[in-house]
Amino acid sequence: MSAPTRQFHRLSIGHNMPETRSSTRGRPDPSDESEREDSSVEESEVESEEGESSDDEPAGKTILARSGITYDMKNLDDETGANASVGLRSQFEVVNCRASDSGYDFQLLDRPQVHVGSDSTTCTCSTFQSRPQAACQHIFWVLDQLHAYFHPTPSTARATLSSDGRPQVRPRAEELLASVRLEAVADRLQWQCLRDEGNGHYHGMTRAEKNPGLKYTAESCVVQGDLEATIFRLAVHDDSVFSSICKAMPSGACAAIYFQKLQDQIRRLLSDFDRYCATGERPADTSSPGGGVEVEEVVHQLQLAVSRIRSNIAIRSPHGSDGAADALVLILENIAARNKDCLSGNEWGRESFHGEDEDQRNLHHLLFGSDDVELKADDELFLISALEDLNISSLGSKVDALRNTLSKMEVNRAPKAYLIRLGALVRLVESGGISGSGQKRPAAGNSGGFSKRSR
Ligand SMILES: [Zn+2]
Repeated sequence: MSAPTRQFHRLSIGHNMPETRSSTRGRPDPSDESEREDSSVEESEVESEEGESSDDEPAGKTILARSGITYDMKNLDDETGANASVGLRSQFEVVNCRASDSGYDFQLLDRPQVHVGSDSTTCTCSTFQSRPQAACQHIFWVLDQLHAYFHPTPSTARATLSSDGRPQVRPRAEELLASVRLEAVADRLQWQCLRDEGNGHYHGMTRAEKNPGLKYTAESCVVQGDLEATIFRLAVHDDSVFSSICKAMPSGACAAIYFQKLQDQIRRLLSDFDRYCATGERPADTSSPGGGVEVEEVVHQLQLAVSRIRSNIAIRSPHGSDGAADALVLILENIAARNKDCLSGNEWGRESFHGEDEDQRNLHHLLFGSDDVELKADDELFLISALEDLNISSLGSKVDALRNTLSKMEVNRAPKAYLIRLGALVRLVESGGISGSGQKRPAAGNSGGFSKRSR
C-alpha cells in the first residue's frame, strides 16, 4: 500500500474525486467495463509490410497510434494487444499529474490513475486490476504520449511494445522524465501538474508525516488553534478520516474551491508582476505557481490559466460555472486595465528588460493583439471563446463588469473581433440568454473547439 500522504494529494483540487483508493486491488469496478466496450470497436491492425513473415498469429501486427508513432505488437498476447489498440487509438484526458518518490502519477478523467515507476506500471482501472500482469489501455496511452513527447519526430518513430505497456526503447519514459521538469512536459501537453510546494501545508511536514511507518497518535495530530492543519494531519494518518473527507467533498464544492484557488493564483501572479515592474523586487517564494515575473512568463501563465479554466469547465460541468465565470472576468478586467508599457513610471529607472519595445511590455497588446490584426468572426479568441463556453446564467452577476471592460477595450482599440464578440456576449447576458443575435452558443460543458492535440 502506498503512503497515505500520496493518496491525500488526491484530495487536492484539480481532479475528480476518486471513489476508491488507489490501493484497492482485485475489486473490478463494473462501471468502467462499458468504457472498454465502447472504444474497442475497431480491430484494424495492419499486417506489417516489412516481410516479417511468421506463422504465429500475433506476429507482424503493427498499429499506428494517434501520436503518429508506429508500434509493433508482436510481443503482445491477444488480450493485451486489444488493450493496446484501444489505448493507442483513444484520446484520454489527463486531469492532473504529479511526480512522487516512486515515479509519476497520471490521473485520467473518470477515475483511472496510471502510475509509471522504474519497477512497474500500474493503473487503478478494473481492466488492469483483473489482469495486473499486462498493461491496460490507459497505460498504453500514457506511455505513448510520453514517448511521443520525447521523440523529435513521432511520425517516423517505430517501437516494439512490451506487455507492461512500455515501448522497448532506451532511455525509458521515467528516465527521460527524471531529466526534465514534469511541469515542462505537462505544460506542453496541457496537463495540469500538481506541485507539492504549491501548498504551504507540505512545507512543514514532520518526520512522522513524511514517514507514515512511524507511529502516531490522534493526539499528536492536533495543532493547537489550527483546525485545518489538525484535520490535514489526521487525514494523512488515518484512513477512515481520509475516506470520510473524500465522501464529504461533493464535486460541486471541489469545483468551487478549484476556481477560487485559481483566482488567488492569478491575483498573486499579477500583483507580483506589478511590484516587480514598479520596483524590481521579485517575489520571495519563486516556487509558487506563476512565481515567474518576466513578461513572457506572465503572458504564458495567463494563457495557461485560461486553458485550464476551459478544460475544467468541461470536466466539472455542471459544477463550477460561477467560479469559472469569476476567474475569466477577473483575467479580462486585469488585462484590459494593463494596456500600457508595464515599465512606465517605474521606480528603479528601468528602461527595458531585455531591449524589447514597449508593445512587448504591454499585456493587453501581447494577449489581445492590436486593432490592425485581422480576425475572422468565428476564430478562436483568447479568453472570449472561454467566456462563450460558459452557461449564460453564470455571467448574469457579471454584466456590469463585462460592460465596463468592453468600454475600456474600445478605448484601448482592441481588435475589432474582440469588441464585436464581447459586445454580443454582453447583449446576450443583458437579455438573460434570449437574444435575437443568433450567436452560436455551445452548451455549458461542451468542449467544442477544445480538441487539443489532434496531431
Ligand atoms: Zn487502466
